[in-house]
Amino acid sequence: MIIVPEREIAALMTREAAYDAVETVFAAMAAEDAYNFPVVREAIGHEDALYGFKGGFDRAGKVLGLKAGGYWPNNLERRGIINHQSTVFLFDPDTGRAHAMVGGNLLTALRTAAASSVSINHLARADARVIGMVGAGHQATFQLRAALAQRPFEKVIGWNLHPEMLPNLEKVADEAGLPFEAVDLPGLTEADVIVTITSSFAPSLMAAHVAPGTHLACMGTDTKGKQEVEAALLARATVFTDEVAQSVAIGEAQHAVAQGLIAEGDVTPIGAVINGTHPGRRSDEEITLFDGTGVGLQDLAVAARVVELAVEAGVAVEVDF
Ligand code: NAD
Repeated sequence: MIIVPEREIAALMTREAAYDAVETVFAAMAAEDAYNFPVVREAIGHEDALYGFKGGFDRAGKVLGLKAGGYWPNNLERRGIINHQSTVFLFDPDTGRAHAMVGGNLLTALRTAAASSVSINHLARADARVIGMVGAGHQATFQLRAALAQRPFEKVIGWNLHPEMLPNLEKVADEAGLPFEAVDLPGLTEADVIVTITSSFAPSLMAAHVAPGTHLACMGTDTKGKQEVEAALLARATVFTDEVAQSVAIGEAQHAVAQGLIAEGDVTPIGAVINGTHPGRRSDEEITLFDGTGVGLQDLAVAARVVELAVEAGVAVEVDF
């Protein structure tokens, strides 16, 4: 069995490798070569922790496994370690034997950023030049870095409920040599691409804040009750997702479906666009919206890739098991 410790991941995994792994598994999901298992998420009644499993099987890539972990809200304050903690376990699909154990913390951030950048690559207008961010927390910096690789963006604009966090975005824009401007929500009509990545339970971004032709990647809503954008925006947009079942149950589409504004059949897996069975964007005026809910197969895909990279680099720890 191979172990890739968390501390090795940053030096091994690139944004490009994460992009390729996530794009490939989204395509396999749409082709029904890969599927996710039902998610388990439990409040364990200890340390206020939320713990769970996300698993799946990618028959095409021969990747079987699960990510175990969750959220321990007291970690940072009491122990100086991050609150999100996860580990990926991979199994040999031919034998069921444990194959690898991989640190999942950085990989989660990279696979989430890869998902929105896959959507930008396949759905944003080719002439997109202004990117707008809603959210400025930990994950926002990963989303922005990955997004900037997809188009020759010339400007970053951003809004956050807590404006004191906006320098997190400005720093990433600076690194890329791009100007950054803090805007109010109506100012986001200037954006050609908008990424939302907040932990909000009420919509911030309204339909009136989005110009025709915009591509949105809504990445924060991954739980029942969360919401980042007005449901009416989904009715105005062509809606894509990583997995339709999750989109309508725990993603941004849950609200538009509950209000009868769209039906489950209106939501298209992004893998269909990658595979060429759906045309994707049809006009420069169309609003496209990617509802990124986060699936276990994304975690398994990046973990399987990092195992290969660790073996190639000679840093994989091998144990008899
Ligand atoms: P974080 O705590 O670092 O940042 C939270 C962000 O949400 C900040 O920008 C904060 O200002 C904003 N925010 C908080 N309350 C808000 C409110 N009521 N209205 C509007 N904005 C509000 O968290 P993070 O690590 O950046 O994660 C952000 C979200 O992304 C979380 O909800 C997390 O569950 C989700 N997430 C989704 C995926 C996925 O695959 N889709 C993966 C990882 C994280």
